[in-house]
Amino acid sequence: MQISRRALLALTGAAAASSVVGLPAFAQDKGTIGIAMPTKSSARWIADGDSMVKQFTEAGYATDLQYAEDDIPNQLAQIENMITKGVKALVIAAIDGTTLSNALDNAAAAGIKVIAYDRLIRESGSVDYYATFDNFKVGVQQAESLVAGLKERFADVKPWNVELFGGSPDDNNAFFFYNGAMSVLQPMIDAGDIAIPSGQVGMDVVGTLRWDGAVAQARMDNLLSSNYGDKQLHGALSPYDGLSIGILSSVKGVGYGSGDLKMPVVTGQDCEVPSIKSIIAGEQYSSIFKDTRELAKVTVKMVDAVLSGGTPEINDEKTYDNGVKVVPSYLLASQPVDASNYEAVLVGSGYYTADQLK
Ligand code: BGC
Repeated sequence: MQISRRALLALTGAAAASSVVGLPAFAQDKGTIGIAMPTKSSARWIADGDSMVKQFTEAGYATDLQYAEDDIPNQLAQIENMITKGVKALVIAAIDGTTLSNALDNAAAAGIKVIAYDRLIRESGSVDYYATFDNFKVGVQQAESLVAGLKERFADVKPWNVELFGGSPDDNNAFFFYNGAMSVLQPMIDAGDIAIPSGQVGMDVVGTLRWDGAVAQARMDNLLSSNYGDKQLHGALSPYDGLSIGILSSVKGVGYGSGDLKMPVVTGQDCEVPSIKSIIAGEQYSSIFKDTRELAKVTVKMVDAVLSGGTPEINDEKTYDNGVKVVPSYLLASQPVDASNYEAVLVGSGYYTADQLK
């Protein structure tokens, strides 16, 4: 094949430019990594995908990044396709952590390594490692922040009227967040400091399928109209910013946040831009920062170690039993964010620019 003069010039130019910043002139060819993400409807997964592509590329890998728009058969087909194309490893944030077993057995048979990314893949022996955050701790932080907000905003009230929201019941994380939160809230409910006027407690009743904000909004509408005729809502435990936005729309719709009716304390997770703006505006109370750049870094190191015949660094070998095996894991720390520290944590770390939050 003849290479055109223009292409040659472009190539030598690129080589010169990259050697200036100390990068190898041409990416090494270490093979392709399949990255299966759940949805683009939430900004955090876009950030996860972008960070991984960047970091895998820097480490010498090609990537095949796919989003499944929360459609389980779609994600399964994307993963099957990656296996057929011969990826070296699969990094998967599953929509439903139990639906991938057959495909993953095929991957294992083909020698493809499988990393569960942020969400545990359940009911499969063919998951090699798990990279995530300390998800129980995330729930603890959400509840602690809820209580801090209740004390700050409703100092003289007893009991505080609170409603509970859970994440998607097909996501293992949802149970860890809920259980972590309840480890803080249940003793306060038992002591009479917190009341749940709807009586709705337990993941089987408070879960929100597919983490859908519209579902949370509709449930909040119902809770308010059925239980709050003569009562004021003081707080809502929300495990994810997309749900928090729905819950806030619902409460604003019946007058909270105007006149004498103070906004209830609503938590969140992921520090998505609309929620940080809402925190700045005094609506959402808090969120939890999970640095997706760090999760990508851990994952890329894990994959690189496994594919080079080494052993990845892990820091947890007991927490994540997926029903078939305890999956060796690396857990990162999360950080609560509210109006007092969003600037230092999010802008200070370069996660967002100040302009993005205006
Ligand atoms: C993730 C959360 C996210 C939620 C909804 C969970 O598995 O750990 O960070 O808020 O999914 O996308």
